[in-house]
Amino acid sequence: SVATQPVLVVDGHGLPYLDPRLPVDRRIADLLGRMTLDDKIGQMTQAERAAVASAPTRIAQWRLGSVLSGGGSAPAPNTPAAWLRMVNTFQQYARSTPLQIPLLYGVDAVHGHGNVYGATIFPHNVGLGSTRDPALVERVNEVTAAEVRATGIPWNFAPCICVARDERWGRTYESFSEDPALVIAMETSVDGLQGRRIGAPDRVLATVKHYAGDGDTEFGSSTTNTYTIDQGVTVTSRRDFARIDLAPYVVAIRKHRAATVMPSFSSVDWTEDGIGNPVKMHAHRELITGELKGRMGFDGFVISDWEGIHQLPDPSVPADAPRPTAAQVRVGVNAGTDMFMEPNNAPDFERLLRAEVTAGRVSQARIDDAVRRILRAKFAFGLFEQPYAPDDRVDEVGSGAHRAVARQAAAASQVLLKNTGRALPLKPDARIYVAGRNADNIGNQAGGWTMDWQGRPGRSIPGTTILQGIRQVAPQARVVHSADASAPTAGSDVGVVVVGETPYAEGFGDVGGPTWENGTPEQREAKSLTLRAADRAVVAKVCAAVPTCVVLVVSGRPQVITDQLGRIDALVASWLPGSEGTGVADVLFGRRPFTGRLSMSWPRAENQVPVNVGDRTYRPLYPYGWGLRADPGRERLTTVGARELLAPEHWQPDGTLRTDARTLALAERAVTSGESAKLRDAVLSVVRDAAQARAATGRAPVSWEAKLADADHAQITGAYEKAFSLLAAVARG
Ligand code: BGC
Repeated sequence: SVATQPVLVVDGHGLPYLDPRLPVDRRIADLLGRMTLDDKIGQMTQAERAAVASAPTRIAQWRLGSVLSGGGSAPAPNTPAAWLRMVNTFQQYARSTPLQIPLLYGVDAVHGHGNVYGATIFPHNVGLGSTRDPALVERVNEVTAAEVRATGIPWNFAPCICVARDERWGRTYESFSEDPALVIAMETSVDGLQGRRIGAPDRVLATVKHYAGDGDTEFGSSTTNTYTIDQGVTVTSRRDFARIDLAPYVVAIRKHRAATVMPSFSSVDWTEDGIGNPVKMHAHRELITGELKGRMGFDGFVISDWEGIHQLPDPSVPADAPRPTAAQVRVGVNAGTDMFMEPNNAPDFERLLRAEVTAGRVSQARIDDAVRRILRAKFAFGLFEQPYAPDDRVDEVGSGAHRAVARQAAAASQVLLKNTGRALPLKPDARIYVAGRNADNIGNQAGGWTMDWQGRPGRSIPGTTILQGIRQVAPQARVVHSADASAPTAGSDVGVVVVGETPYAEGFGDVGGPTWENGTPEQREAKSLTLRAADRAVVAKVCAAVPTCVVLVVSGRPQVITDQLGRIDALVASWLPGSEGTGVADVLFGRRPFTGRLSMSWPRAENQVPVNVGDRTYRPLYPYGWGLRADPGRERLTTVGARELLAPEHWQPDGTLRTDARTLALAERAVTSGESAKLRDAVLSVVRDAAQARAATGRAPVSWEAKLADADHAQITGAYEKAFSLLAAVARG
């Protein structure tokens, strides 16, 4: 039978390492002295659930330190109680070994406990970054931790603190922002997961990943196919790498004390050394041992990514030889990784590492350092005292209180990109025509890492779709729903068209994941950033047929929608809002204000990507930080701020803004203001129309020139452009 109550295992043997009154270092030293090499290597090994589920005695036999569920590897039945029973059963096997060292179970709960049916699913990080609300993001992760812990799991492979610099990357939505400063601000996620001290009740160990540069790789190359965007190569100077890719780690380690770090599948290629010598992060001793464990002072442990060392070059065997090889194990361990995610090859890994140690190619000191770090986490977490999770919290998974937090986060993540003021807020008794394939699809709304690694379209999880949210928030509204806009529109006041992406995770040109050549048509289309033809057709059809129209883009990254803008009254970046569509409906009906601001620059055209704040030529459709307020009172107020900014005392002779505190404050207000944004949008759309007309006729239309002669508009627009570039420069330090 499985113990489901906390068990105190202190007195039994009278051994120092089992005595919680002793300092952790003393307990570690005592335990280390009792461990055989096999025990130690076992602690460094993590297998997948599927490799041990049918024969859990392997946990003891292989002396495993850890087991994980990779994305979509859930026990059947997939209920919170089944998870708890499974984890506690595995723990029993771990504790049947002579030293009774508890197992550390790990899972990817990257936007809520996404593998568990019935869990609360939050917006993905790209949406959380858009909330600009560190306290809310901490709360979101606190709830995630409580749900993960309620199922008996003490460890979460999250948050991803990558800085996504190219939206074509299939993991863009796992990033809080293209701007390292915003990623750093969102590292309250680590506090939410871990609590103020490791082992706090209802909290888990966090993993910051993927160290480092995973979001900053080069896409494609005219001469070689080796540089791909996922698991590709970060071609950069050491200085830029420190500024963009490493900076979030310094803060996550020193300030937030993240317990574990996962190296990236990607490689780094320093420009100073002349490019052409990319080094895999899993082999990067300088960055793992020197930088992370040395200069940053990281005292937790490093967990490899999924078969991460299998990709290390080994000239002695053919590329398709079974992995891992001795050289891969040696290089990986010596680079500084402490625990190895070897989902299907745990015994091979252990055998090879034992041989390397015995031959003296991996030192005993390196092994002891790795094991000490792993044991420290287990002791600090209290796993020796309470190896079994209690079963009295499973009902909290997906509770009403937790869903209320997800609803709030979904609302706060919505970014109002365009607003003529004619459609929003929706009136509670309006006749609403709801269309688009993402209007009533909770699986699409949740995205990847939900029930399956790649996500699962359709009714995959409980919660509310955006359509259901609209019906719940405005029961008086008369709603017609037609996904493909085939139902007649007669009599509707407003259209709400919800378009965008279908779920995906990782991949797109990577090793093992879908590539352009072998991907399904859906995956191939998803690789493009241009809103799909079918979606554009639904937008065009609905917006032509109803008096006013609102378009919501449900996607993991910006989508090019420039050609439809003219038809749209209100455009909203909804990102991947998660299980609570009610949160999206809240802002549409004005029950909560729009407060979201872009965490990623929104491109004008596909060939403009990558486009990032601070670029030398920075002309996205909507800049980083953009977000309208849809609040007339506030808009009037900030217009005054914008006009003040035009006064000569705020400008330098060369036409750039001054950098004194008052000017910066005005610039900040101008950039975030609703009215100024509206104005700028209006001017830009005039310019756009004019450019199109000029292309067609070869001549600029009179009305365009007349409008641009309106000095007020033009000056204000110019001021905003300058303010944006100034703020971008300030953000870059
Ligand atoms: C991903 C990691 C994840 C791991 C375990 C890998 O494919 O890169 O982010 O934590 O799988 O599921």
